[in-house]
Amino acid sequence: MAKKDEWLGDVQLDEDEGEDDGQDWGDWNADQEEEGDDLDSNILCLFCCSIFNSSSALFHHCRSIHYFDFRAITKTLALDFYASFNLINYVRSQVAENRCWSCRHTCQSKQDLQNHLHETFSLEDTIFPWADDKYLKPFMQEDPLLYSFGEDYESEDEDTTAVNKISDLVNCERICMEDDSSLEEHLYDFNTQEDGRKEIASTSNCCLNVANPSEVMVDGVDVKEDCCSSHGKSKDKHWEICSAKAAVTNEIKNVNKNYFGSYSSFAIHREMISDKVRTDAYRQAILNNPSLLHGAAVLDVGCGTGILSLFAAQAGASSVIAVEASEKMASVATEIAKNNGLLWSGSPNNRISQCTGVIRVVQGMVEELDNSIDIQPHSIDVLLSEWMGYCLLYESMLSSVLFVRDLWLKPGGAIIPDTATMFVAGFGRGGTSIPFWENVYGFNMSCIGKELVEDAAGVPFVDVVDSQDIVTNTVVLQSFDLLKMMPDEMDFSSRIELEPQLDNPTNCTRDSFSKTTWCYGVVLWFETGFTSRFCKEMPIVLSTSPYAPKTHWSQTILTFKEPIAIASALAKPDFDRLAAVGTESCPAVKIHSRISIARAASQHRCIDISLEIAVIGPDGLKRSWPAQIFNLA
Ligand code: SAH
Repeated sequence: MAKKDEWLGDVQLDEDEGEDDGQDWGDWNADQEEEGDDLDSNILCLFCCSIFNSSSALFHHCRSIHYFDFRAITKTLALDFYASFNLINYVRSQVAENRCWSCRHTCQSKQDLQNHLHETFSLEDTIFPWADDKYLKPFMQEDPLLYSFGEDYESEDEDTTAVNKISDLVNCERICMEDDSSLEEHLYDFNTQEDGRKEIASTSNCCLNVANPSEVMVDGVDVKEDCCSSHGKSKDKHWEICSAKAAVTNEIKNVNKNYFGSYSSFAIHREMISDKVRTDAYRQAILNNPSLLHGAAVLDVGCGTGILSLFAAQAGASSVIAVEASEKMASVATEIAKNNGLLWSGSPNNRISQCTGVIRVVQGMVEELDNSIDIQPHSIDVLLSEWMGYCLLYESMLSSVLFVRDLWLKPGGAIIPDTATMFVAGFGRGGTSIPFWENVYGFNMSCIGKELVEDAAGVPFVDVVDSQDIVTNTVVLQSFDLLKMMPDEMDFSSRIELEPQLDNPTNCTRDSFSKTTWCYGVVLWFETGFTSRFCKEMPIVLSTSPYAPKTHWSQTILTFKEPIAIASALAKPDFDRLAAVGTESCPAVKIHSRISIARAASQHRCIDISLEIAVIGPDGLKRSWPAQIFNLA
């Protein structure tokens, strides 16, 4: 699908970009220290008597226990710092009167209120009672939450170059609050950009962390009316926000249409099914863990041909709901289940008498099932899905899985697979196509590589990297526990440290600075775990590593602006103290990097990756490069 990156290293480093070129990596450590510096306060829960020592712990508790998802609300409604401040005071004031913050129903007691609290599915209907200036006054004297919740805003701003890029969309909404013309410009951007866009090849759910597009499903006219019903000067602001949301909603619809359209083709399903590493991993996990599947109520998110549902039925599941958004594939999956005698043909009210199989195929996005099927909340034993995209997160389908988890998974229910881990390592010359162009039927065509190198630094390539071409150790970039993670954790920023690992002699140059090699960039890959937490009889790992048999995901290649010479500190490389670190005369002994991944602002199923690099020389000197942004589209 993606073509091989072309890289010709220009080993001459620009002296202007030497050791002190403005990026002081020392501040990373400072950042890290600050991160650990959690508030030492006792923060009272908004709804009960629980006490927390950080706002993030409190919000996690409110989300899982009291159906109050502060982050989702503030993001979906684009509440800025002050509006969020108001919201906290508003909620505290309502709880003090035993009133539900969302539907405003008044309860008899605090306990009744806690039992009554519920999810708010349609935020578009929300009026903004907290917009009243009176909620700018702290409801609780010295409320530590008011001093600490804003740290989320600060740390996000500071730590995520790519995440910031993604939040252009959110910024747009902020701009809207200040300036009508910016809003118009932004809406214009949305409309005009669409034509020029490539069709996306795959799936996913949402930037802005809107797990459910229907949450912002705003018809232009209706929205205006809804929003205008708010009062005071905030009315206009709300209208502007809602208008921007309407544009975002249209954008999401278009992207989804193309996305599910791409899954209507049989070729893509054939490719996935033929990927034996992938399909066997699922098959073994499903068939060889009878304690998990036997008699279980299963939900397959994005069933495609229905292959995983068929395995689940074969493993003895008592019911399998196979959800597929592509109309074509939903009808194909139905036919396949039927032809294999596994389709449930009973009516919901008369299941036993007419039951022939256990699979029910439902067409639609899982986020929009509404009344098309009656699934009781928290009634599913096993949530099954093959949601992984290139670089794990491309397609953003993970947010759909988390949406299903929160709505339908039983307490103690299983997610298959239940973990995902992203890895990173540096790659050498062989990971580029330089060798190819150097010798084409005996002719030197390396000038092509020279030309291609200019483009390589901004384009992520999905291709196979041979393990022989890895020139550093491998480190974990990010780990996800699908059972516990929040949807916004799909956007992250991680710091890593790579060290040369030159045990492959073909990577080393044979000159006076022996044991030096060139690192041309980093390669990312992932593993998903079907861990013993749920797969007790046979845990499985599905790996897309260069060290494992190849899969259709290949690896994701991010090429540096210029290659970096590296040598192991243990080899005590000779070096020229006056030369720039990372050149052949002064190879780096470590590569520090900050890698941020976030769903792209313009196409919610694409991802932006920001790559920041600094290298450390043998004498501890540092050299860094400006961030590179890669868009995986
Ligand atoms: N489970 C199949 C297909 C995996 S590909 C297999 O393992 O072979 C992912 C599938 O999920 C695609 O067919 C896509 O159309 C579907 N899909 C993605 N997001 C979805 C969503 N939110 N709701 C329903 N189906 C979705």
